[in-house]
Amino acid sequence: MHETAEVAIIGGGVIGLTIARALALRGVRDVLVIERGSLGTESSFAAAGMLAPQAEANRPHEFFQLTCQSRDLYPALAAALLAETGIDIELETTGTLYLAFTEHDAAELDRRYQWQSEAGLALAKLSGDEARLLEPAVGAEVRAALRFPLDSQVENRRLLSALAVANEQLGVRLDTGTEVASLRVERGRVTGLETSRGFIASGRVVIAAGAWSSLLNAGDIALPNLRIKPVRGQMLCFAAYPRLCSHVIYSPRGYLVPRRDGRLLAGSTSEQAGFEKRVTAAGVHAILSAALEISPRVGALPMIDSWAGLRPRAGDTLPVLGPCAEIEGVFYATGHFRNGILLAPVTGEIIAAAIVDGRFPTRLEIFSPDRFRLLAVTG
Ligand SMILES: Cc1cc2nc3c(=O)[nH]c(=O)nc-3n(C[C@H](O)[C@H](O)[C@H](O)COP(=O)(O)OP(=O)(O)OC[C@H]3O[C@@H](n4cnc5c(N)ncnc54)[C@H](O)[C@@H]3O)c2cc1C
Repeated sequence: MHETAEVAIIGGGVIGLTIARALALRGVRDVLVIERGSLGTESSFAAAGMLAPQAEANRPHEFFQLTCQSRDLYPALAAALLAETGIDIELETTGTLYLAFTEHDAAELDRRYQWQSEAGLALAKLSGDEARLLEPAVGAEVRAALRFPLDSQVENRRLLSALAVANEQLGVRLDTGTEVASLRVERGRVTGLETSRGFIASGRVVIAAGAWSSLLNAGDIALPNLRIKPVRGQMLCFAAYPRLCSHVIYSPRGYLVPRRDGRLLAGSTSEQAGFEKRVTAAGVHAILSAALEISPRVGALPMIDSWAGLRPRAGDTLPVLGPCAEIEGVFYATGHFRNGILLAPVTGEIIAAAIVDGRFPTRLEIFSPDRFRLLAVTG
């Protein structure tokens, strides 16, 4: 006898956990999350929790629409998780400030302001003085700023705890300390997973294994070559009592994220360092320089923590979402790169709808795993 699951999800990060909850809420009875370590301890734990689609968007691409859609699902998700689990995920809606310190920064901000205001999006242009009036800790050299009132943040570690508890209450099985080695595929259809504690039979499998998604195989059968690579991000954490600022504050070189409990996060780096999750001297230096430029007051704060995580980036940097055409029953939810916390709610909805209703809207095809097959064919 071997174990079975109606849907087996590989990976217990924010993506796997959000999909599991969305499936259980749609009435799928036998959902299994398989996590080789502990739940939510990889990239999802390392993140800053910013929900800021507008702050960095340079054009109205389909990806931008997806990120805004997901951000707008957060208030309902936060309320539902509070009701289901009693855990407040600390959705902060103060807004995000994006600062310009150089002529080049100011030109970038102008372009962003131009297209977003023409598109009717909520944002305001501020002078340097206005930015400092709003956030007095901002450095005197600031030349201009944009304020995005709808871009927000969550405490991603509390989000992970809430998702784990919600899933448990919904009857989702959370199998930690179990590693998936490969998918078993017979006659073009997935039939289950070979794991470190034996075979698990399942006709529906979701690959949500973050930066490790491309390491999975299906024996002799080729999976789509998504070229998911880890992109290391380092983070520093300071104690700021009273709080240094109330907005999430970006510059083109870094960001500061104030938490409710007085922690102040400063990030981050983007490095190709394989699967090494180290905090390095060069990383600390780069983050500190950006943080001190945003606010020289950071220099007086005690540094209380530092960490690194691995963002999952696909070959073309877009997320990989939806059913796999080559192998029936396999669904992808990976490659969320810099936006996995932001994109979690919409990913949960998209994948649950694809599995339960067999629906995958045409507008989402640019995120489909099949795009890599087309690339392979056309060279
Ligand atoms: C420093 C930093 C800052 C970031 N800031 C933000 C931010 O502000 N906003 C935002 O939206 N995003 C941010 N991100 C990105 C975000 O963290 C990721 O996009 C997101 O966490 C990806 O979630 P995931 O569930 O796919 O991956 P993960 O959280 O990495 O989870 C994948 C899980 O799969 C498990 N796994 C892998 N292989 C196997 C296997 N074979 N068998 C069983 N289990 C397996 C892993 O152990 C892991 O727990 C940041 C990332 C970093 C590193």
